[in-house]
Amino acid sequence: MDPHRLAELDHRHLWHPFTQHREWFADGEPLIVERAEGNELVDVHGRRYLDGVSSLWTNVHGHRHPDLDRAVREQLDRVAHSTLLGLSHPGAIQLAAELVARAPGEGSLSRVFYSDDGSTAVEIALKMAFQMQQQSGQPRRTRFAALRDAYHGDTLGAVSVGSIDLFHAVYRPLLFDAVALPAPRTPGGVEEEDCLKAGLALLEEHGETLAAFVFEPLVQGAAGMKHHSPAFLERLCDEARRRGLLLVADEVAVGFGRLGTLFAMEQVGVVPDLLCLAKGLAAGYLPLAATLTTERVFEAFVADPAAHKQLFHGHTFTGNPLACAVALESLRLFDRDQVLERVAAVESAFADALDDLAPHPNVVGIRQRGVMVGIDLGREDGSPYPAELRVGHRVAMACRPLGAVVRPLGDTIVLNPPLSFTTQEARRLVAIVAQAVSETCPR
Ligand SMILES: *Cc1c(COP(=O)(O)O)cnc(C)c1O
Repeated sequence: MDPHRLAELDHRHLWHPFTQHREWFADGEPLIVERAEGNELVDVHGRRYLDGVSSLWTNVHGHRHPDLDRAVREQLDRVAHSTLLGLSHPGAIQLAAELVARAPGEGSLSRVFYSDDGSTAVEIALKMAFQMQQQSGQPRRTRFAALRDAYHGDTLGAVSVGSIDLFHAVYRPLLFDAVALPAPRTPGGVEEEDCLKAGLALLEEHGETLAAFVFEPLVQGAAGMKHHSPAFLERLCDEARRRGLLLVADEVAVGFGRLGTLFAMEQVGVVPDLLCLAKGLAAGYLPLAATLTTERVFEAFVADPAAHKQLFHGHTFTGNPLACAVALESLRLFDRDQVLERVAAVESAFADALDDLAPHPNVVGIRQRGVMVGIDLGREDGSPYPAELRVGHRVAMACRPLGAVVRPLGDTIVLNPPLSFTTQEARRLVAIVAQAVSETCPR
């Protein structure tokens, strides 16, 4: 179809997620991605863009990877979809065993419950934790603790444990109440110490009524790449566990190598009771999520059918065979191509390039861990821009004609490319952002 006609139909019929459509229409013809190759997207006009946010933090090994493509095609020749309700299939079984073997805890996260996206992985973890406590003689444990500014997805349970008001304030009357433990913006230092003190006090105050502590380990992505130290999280986890809470690690964003280890919790030294995985699980090819848990949690649901103790939850496309096939192949590539070692090289290329960007007068803060980067924009005196100037959005848009797709979170520019990024691509991406900042930022 003619590109302009596509753009016109987009404006007429699509409703885009998280999008103010007045701005969408004002921005003119949308960037319409027709295909992709490796770490680049190609639009309907044949223009190429670095995929600076890995197609919303999902893509791991690059687009149209021959081995991943083949895994999908081979599964397509067997069956595209069956169900895990009352039936099983080889891909779901093999992938579960692989995930258990690789998850933190040396096999102790031994049960895998599939779903389709990050929100459902978290929603399921919340229901598991709550119901486990109810069925283990802990009826008073009906609430959750979570880190402040957390983002755990858009379904109502996930929103209840999240606290990004900009996204979710309007839904407040529909939500259950959660205890928000303060989290720092940067790791270490006085801010983190104060947060820790306040968090420990809140756990002491509310501990007896809490079922679980839910957190994004090390990097709170959607909050604008807020970071805390492994020691901070470890202290909160130890205290929560001591008080009888289950630990829910939401690795939807940070899992699958983004912070340099396959799972972020490997860097924390705590094995969670529940582990939520999605975004990178199927290498950014297909929607797939998993909630892993221990035999201890699982056992609380095993009983006589008449006792009605099973988990009453399941989505139609749970554990889709095409998605499982590509996820299995992705794990194989992690081994074969030593992906985590390459992440270390890309991480240091980013660090060097970001050092050069740091003195820019309109860059007021940079946080990086692995390939996840947040660049805060502001005025030369360090003060923030008024939100209505939409500086983050304008800088992200200015990156496009320069050859990169990035997304802002407010006035923080987020970089989070596929792990297959080369060191040259990392430097090119930062150079593009630097130029866009210079062209766009008001003094
Ligand atoms: C993206 C994200 C989610 C939600 O995942 P969806 O697939 O968008 O539902 C949950 N938790 C974290 C940490 C995320 O980054």
